[in-house]
Formats: sequence, C-alpha cells, structure tokens
Amino acid sequence: MHLLGMEGQLFSICALLFLTNCVTGDIGYFWHVTDFHYDPTYNRTSLSCQESNGGNQMGRFGNMWCDSPWVLIESSVKAMYSIKTDIDFLLWTGDTVLHASVKDLNHQFNSVILDNVTDLLKTTFPKKPVYASFGNHDSYPSDQFKPKNTVLYNESLARWRSWINDSSQDANFRKGGFYSVKTPQNIRIVALNTVLYYIPNKAVQSDGDPAGQFAWLTQILEAARKQKERVIITAHIAPGVTPTGKSELYKHQNDRLVEIMKEYCDVIIAMHFGHEHADAFKVLKNKAGVPVSPVFLAPSVTPIRFGPVHNPGIRLVKYDRSTGQHLGISQYYLDLSKANNAGRADWKLEYTTASTYGLQDLSAGKLSSLTDKMRDPDSLEFKTYWKYYVVSPSEELTDACNSTCHASVVCGLTEFIKADFDKCVAEMLTSSAMQLSYWVPLFGISVMLLVFC
Ligand SMILES: [Zn+2]
Ligand SMILES: [Zn+2]
Repeated sequence: MHLLGMEGQLFSICALLFLTNCVTGDIGYFWHVTDFHYDPTYNRTSLSCQESNGGNQMGRFGNMWCDSPWVLIESSVKAMYSIKTDIDFLLWTGDTVLHASVKDLNHQFNSVILDNVTDLLKTTFPKKPVYASFGNHDSYPSDQFKPKNTVLYNESLARWRSWINDSSQDANFRKGGFYSVKTPQNIRIVALNTVLYYIPNKAVQSDGDPAGQFAWLTQILEAARKQKERVIITAHIAPGVTPTGKSELYKHQNDRLVEIMKEYCDVIIAMHFGHEHADAFKVLKNKAGVPVSPVFLAPSVTPIRFGPVHNPGIRLVKYDRSTGQHLGISQYYLDLSKANNAGRADWKLEYTTASTYGLQDLSAGKLSSLTDKMRDPDSLEFKTYWKYYVVSPSEELTDACNSTCHASVVCGLTEFIKADFDKCVAEMLTSSAMQLSYWVPLFGISVMLLVFC
C-alpha cells in the first residue's frame, strides 16, 4: 500500500501495528555496545586525558577523565560473552578511536585501533554477525567523513567483510559507509552513516543528500515495506536534540531523516544509536501525535567525562524474532571506582526495563506513557531515569539535574526538531517557575553542562 502523504492511513496503520503487537514466544537477544574510544597510550602519554587526569590516579580499568585502556575494552567484551553467549547478533555503533588532538593521530594509528577492536569482537563471538557503523572519531581527521570513496571505507569493508557478507552493498559502503543486510533471523538491519550529517563534518553539503544516503534509505525502506520486512536502524548519531539544547546534525538533514523515519514507521521496529555517552531513549511521534517508533541510545564503554561522571555500560536487548518487537533491555555496567580499587572488573546488572519501569515491552506507546510520568521532576520515574542516564555513579559523584536540565532531558525524549524542542523547554520552565512561586527550593541546584562527543 502506498502511504506517502496519507496521514490518516499512516496514523491508523502505525497505531494498529503497535496496538496489535503480540509476542510469539520465539525470543532472541542481541548486544549493543558503543563508544569504546580505545586509548592505546593510556598510562604512558595518555593522549586522551582531560585536565591532567583531573588529579586522579590512572586506575587499572580507566580514569573518568580519560578514554579506555585496552583492559577495560577487553573486559567489556568478555563480560558480554560470559553474561549471554547465545545471542543472534551484536550492534556496534562506532567511536572506537580515542579523543585526541589532530596532531597526535593519523590514519594508520586509527586503523590499528579499528583492527584491534574488530579482532576482539571476532575472536570473542566467532560465529555471530556484528553490525558496525562509523562514529565521528573513527575518521582522520575526526568528524570528516567524505561522501565519496575513501581509504577508510575501503579498508573497513575488508575489515568487516565477514559481517556484511553481501557484495551488493559494496558500492554504497565504498561511497558513504552505509549498508543493509538481513540477520540470520530475517530482520533487516539498516546501518547508516549519520556522521555524514554531523555539523562539524565540513566535507559535505549541509543541505544536500551526501553520498545519496537519503535516496538509498528511502529505496531500502520502500522495498522492505513491499517485502513485509521488519527493520532495525542503527547508526552513531541520533537525530533530535541533546540535553544541551543542541541538534548534532545539520538542520536540513536532521529534519529529512526524521521525516523518513515517520513515513516508514510501519516497517521500522526500533532504532539504536551511541555518541552521547549516556543511557537514553526517545519516542518518535507521527504528525498526529501518535507514538510510532522507539529510539534507544546506549551508554559508552569509555568513562571519559565532558559533563557528568558516568560509568562504562553494555546493553543486552531482548526481542521477538518473528515480529522484531523489542521486549526489554538489561543494562550492565562497571562501577569504575570499585573495579580500580579491587583490581578486577565485576560487570553487574544495573537494571532491566521490566523490573525498573514495569515495561512488558519497549513499544513506542509504552515508552510514551513513561515519558508522560517523567514530566514531573520529583517523580520516581524521572529520578530513576537520571540515575541510569549517567550509569549509576556513587551518590556523591552523581551530578544533580536542575529544572533546566530536567526540561531539556524530558523535551529531548519526544521532540526531534529544534524549534519544537525549544518551545517544549520554554513551556516546561514557565510551568515550573509558576510552581516555584509557591515552593521554595530546599536544595541548591547545579547547572548541568554536557559536551558530547
Ligand atoms: Zn563517543
Ligand atoms: Zn561520537
């Protein structure tokens, strides 16, 4: 059925899709891991460290002011293997290279990092496909992804060949680093290169269709609709607005991507991203305001901080193999201070969406109800979300989230267009200011400042 421009039908089909989702009993799992940011110089020149390590010791498993030592990366991948070996596939959403000055890096140095982590995933999960996408730090210089054949695309195609395993994807991969393949369970993975739309990327036209990715994506989703396939979209940078009030993508391209996501909400089951180094989700609504697609952001493995302190995390997703519907997330984390003190890495279950939020599945409708409760900054739901957003540091290390922070976090859950986000934040702050005229705050509030990478 042709749905373009047919808002009424789109509304009813997407609403029906999410209302009638049923669990068939054929349950599968996959891991999502992101933002390793491997620093091979950790403990030597420590090229990635901020502010001279914040005066902290260079712990065995990492330092909150630095990117990951190899031992942390290895322990995160081994933890995934020991927690759940019997998975269908893994998502790996980029930023494998450390944060460092351009003068300290080069293409060869980045290549070795990508090779090392690729090999680790291959040897740990030898029979499982890993669907990898590029992060903005994976190119040299960082952020600069060209919309044409590059050494990085060509080398990475060879590096990830056994996972992509479909020569029909070579042309688009070599041109822009994006591809689509089906999992052994028949779910279509669409791995995008959203760094092509990243504002610091000066190698693209900010109002065009770099590498023809939009045209390609539309074609893939149109074909998926005809074949009645279910699609998982994965990429490094999510569209929308971050809690700093910033859209990471060029406006034209952010808005175009969001339009496409809405238009094909009947085939897109879920979307998974990294980049923000925080545990977050979003809910995409269609023009009629109906929640249609869930969007998940996984926390990073690197503990490096640019804003709030956060621990390293890895994520296990439970889904229905027949429908693709996402049923739950089990989030695991490493308490970095404890691991450094004990000299061993004890990855623990942080929370599950079923037991923490009472969610029986991760449909857009259920997540949307959760966002409604989070509009109250004193709600248990928001307090819980914030604790996990920063991956459970100890209480004394956890940054507070003041009213501006709360409004930005909550509006970012549902608003993907900057103007809508700004309006939402202004309305929430006005309403909380009216409440403040009755209530004197008991505690000082600190300003949250996040810089994403
Ligand atoms: Zn990153
Ligand atoms: Zn990034």
